[in-house]
Amino acid sequence: MTSPSPKDAAAVILLRPNTDPNNPEVYWVKRSTKLAFLGGYRAFPGGQRETFDAEVRVRNCEDEERAAMISCAARELFEEVGVLLARGSKTLTVGQRASLFDDLESKRVTWPQLLDHFGLQLDANDFTFAGRWLTPPFAPRRFDTWFFLVNSPAKQEPRVTEDSELESGEWIAARDAYEQWRRSEIIVVPPVLHVMKTIAAGLTGDLVERFLSIPEAHGEPTRRIEFHPNYICFPVRTPTRPPATHTNCYLIYTSREILVIDPGSPYQDEQIALAQCVDDLIVEGREVREIVLTHVHPDHVAGVNALNKHLQERHGRTCQVAAHAETAESLKNQFPVGRLIHDNEVLTIEGEPSINLRALHTPGHARGHLCFHDERTGALLSGDNIVGYGSVLIDPPEGNMRDYLVSLERMRALRNLSVLFGGHGPAIANPHEKIDEYITHRLLREEMILIAVREGAATSKEIVARAYVDVPPKTHALAERAVLAHLEKLIADGLVTQHSDGAYSATTPSN
Ligand SMILES: [Zn+2]
Repeated sequence: MTSPSPKDAAAVILLRPNTDPNNPEVYWVKRSTKLAFLGGYRAFPGGQRETFDAEVRVRNCEDEERAAMISCAARELFEEVGVLLARGSKTLTVGQRASLFDDLESKRVTWPQLLDHFGLQLDANDFTFAGRWLTPPFAPRRFDTWFFLVNSPAKQEPRVTEDSELESGEWIAARDAYEQWRRSEIIVVPPVLHVMKTIAAGLTGDLVERFLSIPEAHGEPTRRIEFHPNYICFPVRTPTRPPATHTNCYLIYTSREILVIDPGSPYQDEQIALAQCVDDLIVEGREVREIVLTHVHPDHVAGVNALNKHLQERHGRTCQVAAHAETAESLKNQFPVGRLIHDNEVLTIEGEPSINLRALHTPGHARGHLCFHDERTGALLSGDNIVGYGSVLIDPPEGNMRDYLVSLERMRALRNLSVLFGGHGPAIANPHEKIDEYITHRLLREEMILIAVREGAATSKEIVARAYVDVPPKTHALAERAVLAHLEKLIADGLVTQHSDGAYSATTPSN
């Protein structure tokens, strides 16, 4: 299964001077927590390219592709935060701009028509190219995003427009934004972090040159993703369950130690890439403390031996593997698990900043499944219990629906929960919404299954035919596994009975 091919998109880094000229303000937005994709993230205004963006003529721009992306950036800037950056727009009153905005939103006019009609012209000199970033291949939606640096036009105050996918927007000094990330208070994607960090370093020297100084700013896929400081998410390609194509390995590091969680790729090129990232951290003076496993599945453990072999060859020592007892028992023929992790145990990663992770035994997806909670930042490494992309399969006997729902409730109830780092896909910055969605989805399915049984469906196949009409038939075999998990729970709950011939029926309430 290949990752979806990236779509063109543009984003605008809107700048305005600050009292400290070396620390300008940037306009950033918060994506709605209701969004399934990157909900709750801080971002810059922007969005996907429309076909008609290419119909706009852009002054001082020979390159057609760049012109189309400038047009896209200008349109998104107007649609999302109401700023119209076009030559000739100064004469428009606030009221005129508002009615133009309405015309565009209600699709009475297209973007090229709007500009044409009012004699407005986009000028490439107003949009400084600041990099082109690819979404890593682990995401459900992938973009090839062009970033443009733009000086905010006078007399136009950006504000998040209604109906946009944005919750709020504000001016913030670049250094403060960067500090918020450093304090683990916000989640951003790698290009936004790069921009914040670069501007926060001051405006001396050529800012654009610094933006473009790394290969990732030229479309090289980002491998090392720091949604939070000291937490590297390193997606590796694995033979995992579609639509996911990658499993997240996490490298959690301090000034002295590195904890490796779930090195899961069986592929040599991916193992080498991961080892390279680990080496980079070791060269800076750290040691690998341990390899920790969230659960038993091959796409989370298949790279353990390769990483240890690498550490032995390169650094003269292997490191211990730690997991829950159930996981250790299942993996004993693959490699020894040297340390068992118990529920509620705290793992301390020594150094600066010292990081404490509380282990939570959260079975359901797998018997020995562990999550790890950083109580200081509220981050929860959720393994395959909650993922940023794809769905979670509960497949008995390893999987257990009753346990799974208890585990979800336990995660939901954590006192400090700010972000989920799952086994697949991007970090989840709206953890409560996400967990609620998971619980609701499961209970709804259970309800449909119970109705199907009450209406006479007696086998898992018959139940799938009735309760999974909304999913494509090719996934029915998998759905049958999930039905078995639900039936197990319904039997345990006393709502369904399984007879000696294997058939299911609804339990008749006893008086
Ligand atoms: Zn799994």
